[in-house]
Amino acid sequence: MTSADPYRPSGPLPGTPVVEFAAVSKSYPGHVTAVSDVDLAITYGELVAVVGHSGSGKSTVLHLMGTLDRPSSGRVTVDGHDIAGLSDGEISALRAQRIGFVFQQFHLAVGVPVLDTVADGLLYAGVPLRERRRRAAKALARVGLDHRIGHLPHQLSGGERQRAAVARAVIGEPALLLADEPTGNLDSASGAAVLELLCELHAAGTTVVVITHDREMAAVFDRRVEMRDGRIVADSGLVLPRLPRTGTER
Ligand code: ADP
Ligand code: MG
Repeated sequence: MTSADPYRPSGPLPGTPVVEFAAVSKSYPGHVTAVSDVDLAITYGELVAVVGHSGSGKSTVLHLMGTLDRPSSGRVTVDGHDIAGLSDGEISALRAQRIGFVFQQFHLAVGVPVLDTVADGLLYAGVPLRERRRRAAKALARVGLDHRIGHLPHQLSGGERQRAAVARAVIGEPALLLADEPTGNLDSASGAAVLELLCELHAAGTTVVVITHDREMAAVFDRRVEMRDGRIVADSGLVLPRLPRTGTER
């Protein structure tokens, strides 16, 4: 964690949004409206499930939250930055330093040891290789893979690969961890382990947003946001987070 990080706020207050959507819509060419007029605020420290059928706009919402996409209309604010006011370079820096992603399928580079795949999660944060590796080992220990750091991708199970993906996503200590169907390709035992890991990260203070169409999985979340046809049709509401009293707060 460097003090030169321009995007790290000096300790967010409980109740401050880490992501805010104001009348956000996203259309694709051919008149496909994936997301329509969405208002949503997620505050630091929340654990949120976004649920809904396939095609309801969940991944589009996650991409907008993760600054992988800009809205067609409306305002998206991430970690205090209105992304409309940022250049592409500034958005990349914000994303690299403040947001972690876990997708359904984690593509590990063939022949690259797990330690280096995870360490590469810090490549764009300007951290030297030795420090990247040190922090990768720590992140892998955090997800219970300390005994696998020298392994190659084909030597890992699906569940272990997904835990490595989580390690890579959290190595930069992101303000926001976004996971799109992270257990979609896993057997139920591995899926439960990944879910438990996300809950542990939340308990340690990370804001976690998970997309799932698994209602059983969604049931364990503090807050559930339900989407249908690009709109939010239900939101179980803000649950005031318990932010840790230690860390970067001043
Ligand atoms: P979900 O994740 O809930 O399955 P998506 O956000 O992926 O839903 O998609 C919502 C809608 O937007 C769907 O109708 C989908 O076909 C469409 N869509 C998503 N991405 C694109 C794209 N890049 N180009 C065109 N249409 C898209
Ligand atoms: Mg999707």
